[in-house]
Amino acid sequence: DNAQPKKPDWIRVKAPSGKGYNATRKIMRDNNLVTVCEEAGCPNAGECWSQGHATMMIMGDICTRGCTFCNIATGRPETLDVFEPGRVADAVQKLGLNHVVITSVDRDDLDDGGAEHFAQTIRAIRHRSPGTTIEILTPDFLKCAPEVLEVVVAAKPDVFNHNLETVPHLYPSVRPGARYFHSLRLLQRVKEIDPTVFTKSGIMVGLGEDRQSVLQVMDDMRAANVDFLTIGQYLQPTPKHHAVDRFVHPDEFASYEKSAYGKGFLMVSATPLTRSSYHAGDDFAKLREN
Ligand code: SF4
Ligand code: SF4
Repeated sequence: DNAQPKKPDWIRVKAPSGKGYNATRKIMRDNNLVTVCEEAGCPNAGECWSQGHATMMIMGDICTRGCTFCNIATGRPETLDVFEPGRVADAVQKLGLNHVVITSVDRDDLDDGGAEHFAQTIRAIRHRSPGTTIEILTPDFLKCAPEVLEVVVAAKPDVFNHNLETVPHLYPSVRPGARYFHSLRLLQRVKEIDPTVFTKSGIMVGLGEDRQSVLQVMDDMRAANVDFLTIGQYLQPTPKHHAVDRFVHPDEFASYEKSAYGKGFLMVSATPLTRSSYHAGDDFAKLREN
């Protein structure tokens, strides 16, 4: 049946509010920008936005894929807005961000998957805010020529993040249209193209995976030289989305974190409310200090 396990008390989601939140919201509206914080109904929006941290989503809000965990609309996207990189750069500057995360929908309709648009966005932010570290969270460029990845990496993001999302055997039901080994190879190629770029990936748990498969994913990532790892609890955005199999206990997250550091990841975040971009800036700043 469709009965869902009850939300445990360690999943507490505060309603977003406050001055900082409203200020961030206004800058996003004024610049006509889409944030994944809102689109995905992220449980951390109140906390992140009140600290002026946000993840912007470029290339529209309609995706050519239909991952079953994701609340973004699937369909035919609009044409690319050539002024968007400038507007993103403007917002980053106004928000005074130390670290920005830029993500996008998947654009299987574009020959280069949006690689050049990503590169332009990175360059525009760099130009306006040279002190801001830039993290990109990219689609898989599955239908593109392999060279498009070089276009993105050549723009020199500080962190290249691409999420594997789940364990291989759940791909058909969670991430249809994607290929586990393609995504893994993508991360590996980023390091081959430019070893100075940090690579990052993440998965959600509570989708029906088992511990052994999660540990295997960590090994696969390390074999592909992935530097940073995030693991968070999957939450069902609407009843139409993939069911929550279970709520993983915080102790289990702590044990994943310990295993991950043991396997050589430089930075690990594994908690129920960890999201790909949660505290990404703080963690990255700490790492650079060391
Ligand atoms: Fe936005 Fe990421 Fe924070 Fe969620 S964790 S509110 S997506 S910046
Ligand atoms: Fe959502 Fe990304 Fe999947 Fe598109 S590719 S449906 S934006 S998770």
